[in-house]
Amino acid sequence: MKAVKFGGTSMSTAESLLRVKSIVQSDAERRFIVVSAPGKANGESKVTDMLIAVSEQAPDRRASAFSPVRARFERILDGVGLDRSVLSGELDGIVRVLPTSDREFIVSRGEYLTAIVLANMLGYDFVDAAELIEFDAAGYNDARTESLCGERLAKRRSAVVPGFYGCTADGGIQTFSRGGSDVTGAIVARAVGASVYENFTDVDGFMTCDPRIVPHASIIDMLTYKELRELAYMGANVLHPESIFPVRKANIPIHILNTFNPNAAGTAIVPTEEFLSGKYTRTKKLPITAIAGKPHFFSLFIDKSMMNAEIGFVRRVLSCFEKLEIPVEHIPSGIDSMTVVFSAVEKDTVDALIDAIRKEVKPDHISLTTDVALIAIVGHEMRSRPGTAARAITRLSNAGINLRMIDQGASEINIILGVSDDDFERALIALNGEFEI
Ligand code: ASP
Repeated sequence: MKAVKFGGTSMSTAESLLRVKSIVQSDAERRFIVVSAPGKANGESKVTDMLIAVSEQAPDRRASAFSPVRARFERILDGVGLDRSVLSGELDGIVRVLPTSDREFIVSRGEYLTAIVLANMLGYDFVDAAELIEFDAAGYNDARTESLCGERLAKRRSAVVPGFYGCTADGGIQTFSRGGSDVTGAIVARAVGASVYENFTDVDGFMTCDPRIVPHASIIDMLTYKELRELAYMGANVLHPESIFPVRKANIPIHILNTFNPNAAGTAIVPTEEFLSGKYTRTKKLPITAIAGKPHFFSLFIDKSMMNAEIGFVRRVLSCFEKLEIPVEHIPSGIDSMTVVFSAVEKDTVDALIDAIRKEVKPDHISLTTDVALIAIVGHEMRSRPGTAARAITRLSNAGINLRMIDQGASEINIILGVSDDDFERALIALNGEFEI
């Protein structure tokens, strides 16, 4: 059985909802469906953004601010051939409580209403996510959520569940961060023991490189969870970054598919260990899987003779980052020097950081570079194939691009290269050309 999530573009108009209906009905295994709120369409904003705007109004103005949301759902009902009475009670109820509702409740209503519409179109049960997912101070509570889902979903044949939100222990509503319906889909997939978590979006899959920079980038047919994490970190954000954790725990593959091109093969994201043990194979054998990158990092170079003999040197440097709450991205190091790469922060924070490091470890030299772009070359294939780093470096040097940093973890799943922000796009194009992915 399959758990299937449809994103905002797939739910944006009556036409797209009819498409979703036929996709679900084309495969009897598609029994548990998670939906986003309608996304942008015909010049209208995402329903979630419309609801955020409603929640920001003074209580007595919220009902009128909600009118365009109501009209949008009524148009959807008309277009899919459902009676407006399917939502009239719900819509009236929401309008009634708007003045006293908190932001989370208001913002979650897009998914709530959309799931009711689709459940009616399919003849599936509607199950409110507030009965399935429970949040505590640290985020959604995995154990509690698993047991709630077990109770509420196990005996059903089919259901539509709104994405993006759950409840709090005191009965309120809490949302995930934006795009969080992907996480709901993964939670539901695990709860129902799905054979696959299909995630329908509006692109054909993950690309080997950012197509805005490298136009001939192609679709990756298969990625492992680990490769996905590396790429997501570098900004390849087809999926919400937290969405892999529930399915990874249960070894359920994710399949990225396109609602508007459902015959495209898409991208399968498979459990890393199972991939490495040979259970899955890619259709194309390439030297690497993908290249992704992000500009605007800072890098701090710290040099001190005999640094390697000074016990606790690295820890003391890192404690300065910790005190100032600056997340560290990479730490390439030499014998007498180390470099710490981190996302750009305000000038005051950098000044405080440099002061703190000077006091803490008394370096011989410390200098900051503020225009570092990081590029990750990702792929399990590198492990058994010597020369990937050499090819990348040679290609950059032939293109006249200065390499500022190189970092390869022992897992050999990625090579991180640092270049200047100005060279970022040229470097991506050059590397893509080198590995022909
Ligand atoms: N509707 C929410 C958003 O726009 C959640 C989602 O689509 O996953 O972020």
